[in-house]
Amino acid sequence: MKDLIQPSTPVDGQLQVAQVQAVAETWSPQHVLSWALQTFGKQVAISSAFGAEGMVLIDMASRISKDFRLFTIDTEFLFAETYNLMDRIEQKYGITIERVYSTLSPEEQQRVHGEALWSSNPDLCCNLRKVEPLRRKLGELSAWITSIRRDQTSVRSSAKRIEWDAKFGLVKVNPIVDWTSKQVWRYIHDHDVPYNALHDQDYPSIGCTHCTRAVRPGEDPRAGRWPGFNKTECGLHIIEPLPASSQVQAATAEGGD
Ligand code: SF4
Repeated sequence: MKDLIQPSTPVDGQLQVAQVQAVAETWSPQHVLSWALQTFGKQVAISSAFGAEGMVLIDMASRISKDFRLFTIDTEFLFAETYNLMDRIEQKYGITIERVYSTLSPEEQQRVHGEALWSSNPDLCCNLRKVEPLRRKLGELSAWITSIRRDQTSVRSSAKRIEWDAKFGLVKVNPIVDWTSKQVWRYIHDHDVPYNALHDQDYPSIGCTHCTRAVRPGEDPRAGRWPGFNKTECGLHIIEPLPASSQVQAATAEGGD
C-alpha cells in the first residue's frame, strides 16, 4: 500500500492526521510504526510504562529501527520489578530510556502537599508526577506513540490508530489500538519479549506502588489501579475534542478517501 504522506513531507500535524487517519485504520501495527518513525524521525518517541502492550511496541520498533526514541514518566513510585525491566530493555535493545521526572521530588511533594497525596487527592498527585512531566516531554516532540487499546477503558474506546491529540497539541499514534490482550500476549510469547515479573503475580496493569494491587479472579484487569477511587485514568489519555476547523478537515479527508 502506498502511504498518503511521503517521509520528506514537512510536518503539519493536524493536516497530516486528517489525510492519513482513515486509511491508517487498515494498516498493520508494524506499518503504523514504520509510518510514524519515517514521517517524524527524531521528533517522535514511544511513551511507555512497560506494561505488556508497551513491550510489544518496543519489540516491534526494534525490528524496524535500531535508533528509535523511548521515554517513560518515572513517578519515583514504581515497583522494583519495573525498574528491573527497564534495565533489561536497555540491555536487550541497546537503547537508553529517556526518563522524565516531576519537578517535585517525593520529599518535596510531601512537604508542599502533605503526606500520602495519592490517598487524599490522587488526581493532583497524578497531575504533578505524570501529566505535567508528560506535557513537558511532549513539548519537544511532533508525535508520540502509545500502546493504548480500545477495550482497556471507556475513555480509550474511540481512539484511532493515528489521531490529533488536542490536549497536548501533537500527533498521537496508537499502533495496537484494536488489539486484544490475547493478541498482546501471543506476540510476547512468540517473540520472546521480556515483560514485568508482576504480570505473573496477578498484576495485569501496573503503575505506582501506592495505587496498584493484584486483581482477584473475575475482576476487571484494571480493577487493581487506584483501588477505592472512582478513577481509571491518570489523565494522559483523556481525549479532548478537536477544534471545529480540524473536524472539517478530518471529515473532508474521510469523505474523499
Ligand atoms: S498513580 Fe498514584 S502514586 Fe502514581 S502519580 Fe498517580 S496518584 Fe500518585
